[in-house]
Amino acid sequence: MEYPTLDHIDVKDKTVFVRVDYNVSLTSAGEIRDDSRIRASLPTLMELQKKGAKLVLASHLGRPKGEPHEKFSLLPVGKKLADLLKAEVIVPDDCVGMVVKKLVSEMRAGGVVLLENLRFHVDEESCEENFSEKLASLAEIYVNDAFGTMHRKHASTFGMVKYFQTKAIGRLVEREVKALSRLLAKPEKPFVVILGGAKISDKIAVIETLLKKADQILIGGGMAYTFLKAQGFSVGRSLVEEPRVSLARRILDRAKVKGVKVFLPVDSVVAEDFSAEAKHRVLKTGEDWQNGMALDIGPETLAFYREVLSEAKTVFWNGPMGVYEFPAFQKGTANIAEAVAKIRGFSVIGGGDSLAAVQESGFADKISHLSTGGGASLEFLEGDELPGLKVLRT
Ligand code: AMP
Repeated sequence: MEYPTLDHIDVKDKTVFVRVDYNVSLTSAGEIRDDSRIRASLPTLMELQKKGAKLVLASHLGRPKGEPHEKFSLLPVGKKLADLLKAEVIVPDDCVGMVVKKLVSEMRAGGVVLLENLRFHVDEESCEENFSEKLASLAEIYVNDAFGTMHRKHASTFGMVKYFQTKAIGRLVEREVKALSRLLAKPEKPFVVILGGAKISDKIAVIETLLKKADQILIGGGMAYTFLKAQGFSVGRSLVEEPRVSLARRILDRAKVKGVKVFLPVDSVVAEDFSAEAKHRVLKTGEDWQNGMALDIGPETLAFYREVLSEAKTVFWNGPMGVYEFPAFQKGTANIAEAVAKIRGFSVIGGGDSLAAVQESGFADKISHLSTGGGASLEFLEGDELPGLKVLRT
């Protein structure tokens, strides 16, 4: 591991700043809808507590746009964390300032202060120097355990880190780095990549990198139709990124040269409108879709993709195969989730919608690694070192 971990730092009686990812989704009543991000931080926090550290935790929540906002307060998260840790968790009104400093200076070993939402200050996202220094002044050691934010150069993930001599990645980040590095280093073959979701523009860089690594790439979701258009098929009113059509053609050509097989849907569930109740039918690629829009991959495509996956030894999946928010168009995504869970090998799911789909399918525990950061895991696979990791290299 190129980065120091909790094994390399001595935290006894030290104040440790831990950047966590508590960007949980809340109900309109302000209750936590899904506490998995809070639970995911427990191994690091409990280990640090056990080793006698004083913990200063920091996170963002939602997009409060640089202003304090009750709706985005971390108070409910603090309550939940106190239940899970079975310990007192103090949540001050702010993340910097005299009151916070005093609170932190009075902490005892094992104590926990959860700073209020970092994004109550515009300075967090702009990585403002003075703010970074103020955050850093709260602790002696820095630990980042918020993988999903490490692709961002913010004060808490980047700006403040230079003030620390002793720094490390937390256990959650350590697991992410190990799993994703395994995909880039020597993936056992066949290595199958499944890409879906709305747009290719978000995923171009990762496709380029994976063309060098993967044996087969299965494409679904909205992005498939830009590729089909590039091959000259009529795709009706399906999602197409016109400015990317020629790029899609170039990617397909490059894949051919490299001997990577890129598969596109041979049939799709084509709807009359973009709505949950839309009338729909299965149409083959090459048929006239008229005004229809493809909202899911079709049964023949699914059967073929499942067959490819049944042979896979390594799988990476990012992005749903269709508009899975609408029950009528969930089948592709749900079935791919099941197929990935069944592979006898190493499987990684890269955050966001595909993660939610696999959790709903009940197969989540069969996946080797569920990455918590969608954007960060894609950027990691693009091959450039994430800024939040680079600053932790010693
Ligand atoms: P992404 O954030 O790029 O992974 O995209 C996820 C979104 O892609 C989800 O909200 C899906 O509804 C959407 N999506 C998937 N397939 C399609 C499709 N065929 N047409 C339009 N949107 C799609």
